[in-house]
Amino acid sequence: MINSLAFRCLLKTEDEGNHGNDDTRCFILSTLASQGRSKVQCVLCEEYMLVFDRYPLVDGTFFLSPRQHAKFCIEVKVEGRMQFLTCVCMGCLEGVTGKAVSCRFCKTRWDGSSLVLGTMYSYDIFAAMPCCVERIKCNSCFKPVLHPAQRLNYFSDYSHMVPCPHCRTLDTHFVKPLGYCYVQRMVRPLSQWP
Ligand SMILES: [Zn+2]
Ligand SMILES: [Zn+2]
Ligand SMILES: [Zn+2]
Repeated sequence: MINSLAFRCLLKTEDEGNHGNDDTRCFILSTLASQGRSKVQCVLCEEYMLVFDRYPLVDGTFFLSPRQHAKFCIEVKVEGRMQFLTCVCMGCLEGVTGKAVSCRFCKTRWDGSSLVLGTMYSYDIFAAMPCCVERIKCNSCFKPVLHPAQRLNYFSDYSHMVPCPHCRTLDTHFVKPLGYCYVQRMVRPLSQWP
């Protein structure tokens, strides 16, 4: 099914409106088509989501990360850089009961509710807002890459390779493994009353 969706992408559609960028839509649909997938999995709760051929593309949001957060994130090459197409479901973005995500170190709740649903961000949305000093530490020497009060200009700056001022290691230091940074309490749904 997804193959016909990707094909339809090649045709100019007349009723797109201004809900999103058509290049982004085609990029996602053709990437999924090349993998024979019509569903994606949430990187946090691993729930499956259907991908639609129109905006909103998914009940959640896509983003590109330089790190493969889960084995089901698809490797893509964007502007010469290897990235991974990653998806988070709406429940996890909004932190609905049982899906709230918080920083393992400072306990700050991660809040993705202000992100636009059904589209794609070109940077790692978890790296974009470092909540504490643990999130700005070098992946090699574990000293802070930035001054604790220093912040970068753009959300996307946190997904780029930067040299550590201490050990000079060049890495995407702000993009940490999700399991290292966050805890998510999954509450099992109550069993049916007998
Ligand atoms: Zn989720
Ligand atoms: Zn924190
Ligand atoms: Zn370092």
